[in-house]
Amino acid sequence: MVREQYNMLFVIAKSYLDTSQDMSTAELAESLINVFGTKYSRNMWIFLKQRPSRINDYFTEVQNYWQRSPNGPPKAPESAVDYIVVGGGVVGLAIARKLSQLENRSTILIERHNHAGEETSSRNSEVIHSGLYYPPDSLKTRLCIRGRELLYRHCIANNVPFRRTGKLVVATQKQLPYIESLHAKARKLEWPYPFERTSDGPALPTQLLSGSNARLIVPGLSKEIAGALWCPETGVVDSHSLMESFEKDIIDSESADLVYSTRVVRVDPFVGPEIDGTKRGWVVQTMTGGECGESGSILTKTLVNATGLSAPMMVNSLLPEAKRIPMFYARGSYAKYYGPGIEGAKVLIYPCPEIEGKAHGFQSLGTHLTIDLQGHVRFGPDLQWIWATDGQDADFWKTHLVPDDSRLTEMYEAVAQYLPNVRLEGFKPDYVGIRPKAVGPGGGFADFVFRDDYPDADRESLYRPMISLLGIESPGLTASLAIAEYLVEHKLEHVHGGR
Ligand SMILES: Cc1cc2nc3c(=O)[nH]c(=O)nc-3n(C[C@H](O)[C@H](O)[C@H](O)COP(=O)(O)OP(=O)(O)OC[C@H]3O[C@@H](n4cnc5c(N)ncnc54)[C@H](O)[C@@H]3O)c2cc1C
Repeated sequence: MVREQYNMLFVIAKSYLDTSQDMSTAELAESLINVFGTKYSRNMWIFLKQRPSRINDYFTEVQNYWQRSPNGPPKAPESAVDYIVVGGGVVGLAIARKLSQLENRSTILIERHNHAGEETSSRNSEVIHSGLYYPPDSLKTRLCIRGRELLYRHCIANNVPFRRTGKLVVATQKQLPYIESLHAKARKLEWPYPFERTSDGPALPTQLLSGSNARLIVPGLSKEIAGALWCPETGVVDSHSLMESFEKDIIDSESADLVYSTRVVRVDPFVGPEIDGTKRGWVVQTMTGGECGESGSILTKTLVNATGLSAPMMVNSLLPEAKRIPMFYARGSYAKYYGPGIEGAKVLIYPCPEIEGKAHGFQSLGTHLTIDLQGHVRFGPDLQWIWATDGQDADFWKTHLVPDDSRLTEMYEAVAQYLPNVRLEGFKPDYVGIRPKAVGPGGGFADFVFRDDYPDADRESLYRPMISLLGIESPGLTASLAIAEYLVEHKLEHVHGGR
């Protein structure tokens, strides 16, 4: 929205307030649509309806406030909403979808690309993880198990293609203690708190198999494989259809909008004139349609930063240098495979992570075999740390997205450990994904982080957080619906008062 529209909103708001008996609902709706188009008019409608008594004061005070701000103030906000979600990956979409189900709250999701899910959410293994690998009390375990259950239900209810394939974690004699410890852990896992229990069975069923029984399932497995852990709850999902289903729910909702091709370029805490009973929130500045595009500014009560690989940057823009969050990126390459050695492979096959004396290979689950819903076999992802070189910008990782031959030999060698009859010539570069890592090489386990920042130290600010989702690597796709549920029902409604 441009300043001209802002002024016109002011005029409409004023005439609505001054003459609300004379101005019919239809006239008001028509005025809003004329000025803002259908896209924004609903937000403006909610805005006007929610705050009639304060609207005049609000506009005047907001204008004055921004004129008073020193040191290059951000653009004055042109509209206000309850929630802004920045980032239209699978996690941002799941959160906006959940927020869109709240009554009398307005939500906007802002995404810089012209489609949803153009970054990590479309560059992964599309595996529905069972929740096997992480510490029992971690958010990764809890949200993965809960997310897995919600995801299967959502797929069935919304015709999103998926298959519960099951997976084998295969182990050599030396690695048997590792899968035995995973099995023991799985048996002890409770259904995750604070969510409702979804079945009478165990939260994470697993079964230990001998090497020969594993070879009955996948005949091509190496004779060196002495045992395997069978995880029947693992599956694969069509991540694009999943995201489309989230988009549809948002579009069909009464109170949420998707805004694409729009980049958030600046975020500022707002502590100023009272709006709807609060004086706090966040001003989000945007740029639509490239560097020379149209700039905009929106005030939100609550801001959700779901920008994936960029998420630490939005937080860091508000922090002094000494407190900034470090960022790490790990490239994962995939190879398509056409050749022998995979006959009968209808389940996913994971090696034991390389643990090199540590308790767990948290950095990567190893180069595994996945099968997509069309039955194509693919290997990956491997793990390669990447770093910005001098002069590269924050999105430097984009230059690493091009798949190439350089990883194939190493990948082939990793796979041949458990499928010895595969051939190097059968490996073809496919695609690359980048993991947003909270810790660097050798850093051990890092959980999902829901970081809260507040406009200021006032008690009222507790209800106006910016929540940043950091380190949402795997199993973020599996956990997306549970992340949304946890953020909206637990964090926003309980901790932040649901105001
Ligand atoms: C190699 C690899 C394999 C994986 N395999 C699996 C798996 O099999 N199963 C599983 O459960 N998980 C897997 N994951 C993890 C999963 O893909 C991610 O956790 C998930 O996609 C993260 O989604 P997101 O929405 O947080 O981030 P993203 O998909 O990265 O979305 C962030 C969005 O924010 C937007 N954005 C950024 N900055 C701005 C801005 N300034 N303004 C507006 N928009 C902005 C971006 O354009 C992007 O669309 C894997 C990840 C990788 C890298």
